[in-house]
Amino acid sequence: MCYSSVPTTKLLIDGKFIESKTSEWLDIHNPATNEVVGRVPKATQEEMLAAVDSCSRAYRPWSDTSILSRQQIFLRYQQLIKDNIKELAKLITLEQGKTLADAEGDVYRGLQVVEYACSIPSLMLGETLPSISKDMDTFTYRLPIGVCAGIAPFNFPAMIPLWMFPIGMVCGNTYLMKPSERVPGCTMLLAKLLQDAGAPDGTLNIIHGQHAAVNFICDHPAIKAISFVGSNPAGEHIYDRGSKNGKRVQSNMGAKNHGVVMPDANKENTINQLVGAAFGAAGQRCMALSTAIFVGESRDWLPELVERSKSLRVNAGDQPGADVGPLISPEAKVRVESLIQSGVDEGAKLLLDGRNTNVKGYENGNFVGPTILSGVSPAMKCYTEEIFGPVLVVLEADTLDEAITLINNNPYGNGTAIFTTNGATARKYTHEVDVGQIGVNVPIPVPLPMFSFTGSRGSFRGDTNFYGKQGMSFYTQIKTVTSQWKAEDATVTSPAVTMPT
Ligand code: NAD
Repeated sequence: MCYSSVPTTKLLIDGKFIESKTSEWLDIHNPATNEVVGRVPKATQEEMLAAVDSCSRAYRPWSDTSILSRQQIFLRYQQLIKDNIKELAKLITLEQGKTLADAEGDVYRGLQVVEYACSIPSLMLGETLPSISKDMDTFTYRLPIGVCAGIAPFNFPAMIPLWMFPIGMVCGNTYLMKPSERVPGCTMLLAKLLQDAGAPDGTLNIIHGQHAAVNFICDHPAIKAISFVGSNPAGEHIYDRGSKNGKRVQSNMGAKNHGVVMPDANKENTINQLVGAAFGAAGQRCMALSTAIFVGESRDWLPELVERSKSLRVNAGDQPGADVGPLISPEAKVRVESLIQSGVDEGAKLLLDGRNTNVKGYENGNFVGPTILSGVSPAMKCYTEEIFGPVLVVLEADTLDEAITLINNNPYGNGTAIFTTNGATARKYTHEVDVGQIGVNVPIPVPLPMFSFTGSRGSFRGDTNFYGKQGMSFYTQIKTVTSQWKAEDATVTSPAVTMPT
């Protein structure tokens, strides 16, 4: 393909999709073939400034727009997302690699956040308390905070941007988005649909780039809040730099999610759920169940787990019947394969080896098949690092207490699951395990948007989580008004110099 014929990703500035004037471009690859399918600019300083200026100018009129008008825009938006779900999913599969069915799930989970945002009139209600003193009432308003920004990862090109700008904007903020430079296409179509739904020019601006764009967002004084989702090194940096500059920052980061298998669990369900949650999306989910702890005799189920995992079909995401697509890049493949080798070198047993998986017709793709390492111990690199690939590491424990201690000693706290038919075991687990999101016979317990995404410990920095009531809090501030209306004959007769109580 002639390089100049590769489509370029536009910037969205002040309501216009424009070509960047930058001289620095990054290639976007189809992970199933490694062909270049597009190019994305590293926005220039001038372009980034223009984007924030546009957000700043749009802020006052947008925050003054009636809440019902903002609601109407998002009601139209959710319908447009539904109408275009296939198109959005195709873009995700092209740039990210996951299967089309999984890509639709990616859009669908984001759509649910938009649907939640449509209940904004009740979500923005303040509180009132009449007669807190003689003739005196107090009430609160929930108000937007200004220009907000979102920095997204590659693994959920629809869902994660949709955790960000719809909630921020429906509250009355304007929004600057920086999608992952590896998968910008879906965000651009989502932005076009929002424009079609009636969002005024300047309410959503989009810049592209890497570190320079991220640091620009952390430093620009007009930006009041940053939502970040991605890896720990980036998330820690953004949290520190943004907070130092006086911004609110919520930072969702990496994970090592454990599934605890009790001997009393429903064997068939548990094995299927482990396989789906470890290898779905090629393990590139922050809530992937990447670590299994078999308690007691449940370890006898390992051969069946291996057999079931073997039956998954590795293929390009747009091919019929594909279960496991490619990894995002050749570098990711090398990294995942070297972590598998490190497990072998450190004494783990390779029960299933997905390296050298050959996918006919896609020989240049970044494929790694389902891989299982057993006999893993906590000091091994394949346990201490987030692998972010289709690799299940298996540990064993004699008791539930031992399993809980292991998990609580792991620095991450994103998600976990227990498989059991015993209510008391499940209750003990949910109370004692120090992880923010817990599934009981549910392998990937990502909460629906009426709740919040509550990863904890090393998986999160900040104090207010994404979406749900916490998401509304993140994107709003409270103004409290105390007023006194006395009858005309009740005049204050002398100055009150003591603290009113
Ligand atoms: P990433 O950190 O490489 O990239 C995320 C964003 O940060 C991108 O927009 C990128 O341009 C920017 N970035 C990357 N490195 C940076 C740096 N050093 N300084 C400043 N900015 C930087 O993450 P990724 O590879 O796109 O996504 C995978 C990671 O995201 C995994 O660790 C996964 O667990 C995590 N994740 C977490 C959640 C969650 O909710 N906890 C959800 C999805 C993904």
